[in-house]
Amino acid sequence: MNAPANLPGTAADCGPAQPLRQRGQHEVFCGLTSIIWLHRKMQDAFFLVVGSRTCAHLMQSAAGVMIFAEPRFATAVIDERDLAGMADVHEELDKVVAKLLSRRPDIRLLVLVGSCPSEVIKLDLAKAAERQGALHGPAVRFLHYSGSGIETTFTQGEDNFLAALVENLPAEPADAKPSLIIAGALADVVEDQFRRIFEALGLGPISFLPPRSSTALPHVGPNTRLLLAQPFLGEMAKTLERRGARHLMAPFPLGEEGTTAWLKAAADAFGIEPGRFAAITGPGRARAKLAVEKSRPTLEGKRIFFFPDSQLEPAMARFLHRELGCDIVEIGTPFLHRHHLAGEFELLPDNVFVSEGQDVDRQLDRCRAQKPDLVVCGMGLANPLEAEGIATKWSIELVFTPVQGYEQAGDLAELFVRPFARRERLKVSA
Ligand code: SF4
Repeated sequence: MNAPANLPGTAADCGPAQPLRQRGQHEVFCGLTSIIWLHRKMQDAFFLVVGSRTCAHLMQSAAGVMIFAEPRFATAVIDERDLAGMADVHEELDKVVAKLLSRRPDIRLLVLVGSCPSEVIKLDLAKAAERQGALHGPAVRFLHYSGSGIETTFTQGEDNFLAALVENLPAEPADAKPSLIIAGALADVVEDQFRRIFEALGLGPISFLPPRSSTALPHVGPNTRLLLAQPFLGEMAKTLERRGARHLMAPFPLGEEGTTAWLKAAADAFGIEPGRFAAITGPGRARAKLAVEKSRPTLEGKRIFFFPDSQLEPAMARFLHRELGCDIVEIGTPFLHRHHLAGEFELLPDNVFVSEGQDVDRQLDRCRAQKPDLVVCGMGLANPLEAEGIATKWSIELVFTPVQGYEQAGDLAELFVRPFARRERLKVSA
C-alpha cells in the first residue's frame, strides 16, 4: 500500500484506524440522485421533489434516459415568488399534490423530498406531509426526507428515505419467529437471486427493504435480524436497531468472497449447518471465481485511487485488492461508518490509506503525485483527469449497475477493465 508522504493534508499513518479527515470543498452529487434508482424499486410510490428548476434539471438529465413509461418522480418547483416569501408554499404544494393524485390514482405512497431551496425557505416538510396525509389519507400515505445538497451526498438520499420508511414499520408480535430484513435497494434480478439462495438455505422469513410495494412492509422487533446490502445506511440501521433489530456484521456482497461472507453471516445467525451452506453456495462461488479470473490479466498489480463518492469505496477496494490483486493507493469515502465497515477493513491491509470527507484540491495533489493506473471518481473530476492522461472510472456507474452477488461478480470486475480496454483501443486506432 502507498501512503503518500510530504504532501499537504496527508499523514503517513492514515489507515482505517486513523483516517485522514478532510472538511474542504467536495465534488459529490446531492441526495436527490438516489431517486433515480429508488423510483424503480417501489412500483406504487412517487417521489415529489420540493425544489427548484435546478433540481428538476438534475433529475431529468440524470434519469431522463431511463424513463420509458410514466415516471414515478417529479419536482414541485419553488420559484422566485416562493423564495421571496410572496407565496404560500403549502398552498402551492396542495395544488401540485391534488393534480398529481387525480392523474395517478395508482400512487399509494407519496414521498416529499426536501432540497436546498426548500431548506433555504425553511419549509417544514414534516408539517407538509402531515397536512397532505389529512387531505388524501388513508388511501395515500405520505413520507418526507431531505435530499438537499447542503446536507446529503448522493447515496445518503436512500439512507434518509429508508430511515423515514422504517419509522412506520409495524411491530412484530411478542412470539414472532426470528426473521431477516435485507436492507438497501438492489436490482430486482439480484434480489431474486438472493431470495432463491436464502430459501434454499431454509432461512427466514426474509424481506427486502425497500419492498417492491409500499404496502408490503415487514414487522420489526427484537427477533428481527438486519443484514445490510449497502454500506451507506447508517441512519436507517440506527432507526431499526432502536426498534430492537440486531445488525449482523459482514462485508458487503461484492465479489465471490464478499457475497459468501455476507450470506454466511445470515446463515450463522439462523443456525444453518456449515455443510448445507457449502453445498448451496458452492456452485455460485465457483461460477463467480471463474468469471472474476477473466479480468485478472488486466487488473493484477494495477494501482487504484478512490475519490469519495458513494460510500461503496471500501467494499470495492477490498474486492479489487483481494480478488484481482490490485494495489489500493487511497480509499476516499464521504463518511466512514466504522462499525458497518469493520468486515471490510478486516480483509484490507492494516496500512491501507483511508481518507474521510474531501478537500478536493489536496486530494487531487495526492492523486497526481501518486500517478495511479486508475482513478475511481465522480463525473466532475473524470474529464480533467482524463485530459491529464489518467484513466478514470465513473463511480456512479458502480451504483447504477447490478453488481452484487455471485452472478454479477464477473460484471463488476469487467467494469474496472473497461477503462484499460478503451485506452488500448484508442492506442491502436491512433
Ligand atoms: S438539492 Fe441542491 S444540490 Fe441538489 S439539485 Fe437541488 S439545488 Fe442542486
